[in-house]
Amino acid sequence: MRFCRFNDNRLGVVEGDQVRDVSTVLEELPSYRWPFPHGDVFMAHFGELRPKTEALAKTAPAKPLSEVKLLSPIANPGKIIGAPVNYRAHLDEVLDDSALHHGMKIKPIAEAGVFLKATSSLIGPSDAIVVDWPDRRTDHEIELAVVIGKRGFRIREEEALDHVAGYTIGLDMTIRGPEERSYRKSLDTFSVLGPWLVTADEIADPNNLNFELTIGGETRQKANTNMLIFNVQKLIEFASKAYTLYPGDVIMTGTPEGVAPVAAGDILHASFEGIGSIDVRVVGNWDRR
Ligand code: MN
Repeated sequence: MRFCRFNDNRLGVVEGDQVRDVSTVLEELPSYRWPFPHGDVFMAHFGELRPKTEALAKTAPAKPLSEVKLLSPIANPGKIIGAPVNYRAHLDEVLDDSALHHGMKIKPIAEAGVFLKATSSLIGPSDAIVVDWPDRRTDHEIELAVVIGKRGFRIREEEALDHVAGYTIGLDMTIRGPEERSYRKSLDTFSVLGPWLVTADEIADPNNLNFELTIGGETRQKANTNMLIFNVQKLIEFASKAYTLYPGDVIMTGTPEGVAPVAAGDILHASFEGIGSIDVRVVGNWDRR
């Protein structure tokens, strides 16, 4: 099953190039008073709502996907976890290029740990990435994004995939420079998820998916998740050694070689085997004062 969020926070089931509006299922969600629970409320209840969602989709009105605005499929992740240099060839390119490492000692993921991106950086594919630090290089990073469906702490590698709700495409936008990753990767609009969530049962092996990022028809990044240093299961074990993973938490699994600058006017075309593709605009000044 593939679900998306679209337009004015509608919930949709995606079938081919159509989206079925199943938003009425959201009325089943419990209402909360402050303080709210950790994690994304829809993802926390997705398991029990799924049969009803699928039944509704059979008769719900359909719209062409091309006519809707796609939001991040996850509305309120409690955390967005990033994996630093989790592809060998990307590690090599970072070590070789001072514009990428900025004199910092780049350590492999086993020594570096994972990092967190601010949830306020999250947008969907129909929004635009804002690049407005002209003195800095801003790079694209295409990544497999894993969405947690079941709470867990100290999850073992062997049971890790039981905690996955599904997968989506992630863009981990990054300003290059000497600051901590959490600062450089957390600017508003610097985390993109979409176009929809593909449930885990549709992806036989998340560690064997081809993917590619192109700009203007030119290939920038192209790899397969079988090149991950820490695969999906290992990342879940590694991250949950430090903190409890809650439904809706997102793990961006790391990017392969080919990271390169973006500029206003670019359209990033990111595609993933088994998921689909997104086209995300890059814009310059964004007047938000
Ligand atoms: Mn990254």
